[in-house]
Amino acid sequence: MHYASGMTYLAYHKIKFILLLSIEFVLITLHLALAKPHPGDTWAVTNEWHFWLGLIFGYYVIYYMYTLACSECGYKQIWRSNNCMDWRMPGAKCWHCRHSLEKN
Ligand SMILES: [Zn+2]
Repeated sequence: MHYASGMTYLAYHKIKFILLLSIEFVLITLHLALAKPHPGDTWAVTNEWHFWLGLIFGYYVIYYMYTLACSECGYKQIWRSNNCMDWRMPGAKCWHCRHSLEKN
């Protein structure tokens, strides 16, 4: 994988992760702003493009969070346990085995 000169793996993943969360936040806000009220059933399936864009991008963010793992021990770097609320920013080294994440 190529990084811009001087940019470390840590900076790359931190910026990408923050960017992904920001885009998802904008998409959700966009959907809430554009969504027409559904009288009656609020869980009705919609075909509004902003809903599906937010949903699909949300799946990608979750996929990214789930697949960022240490190449040495395989421990997840963002989600660290089965608790979905237990997640941290990725670090320069693996939080579990201290293997450097710089080389990919
Ligand atoms: Zn590790």
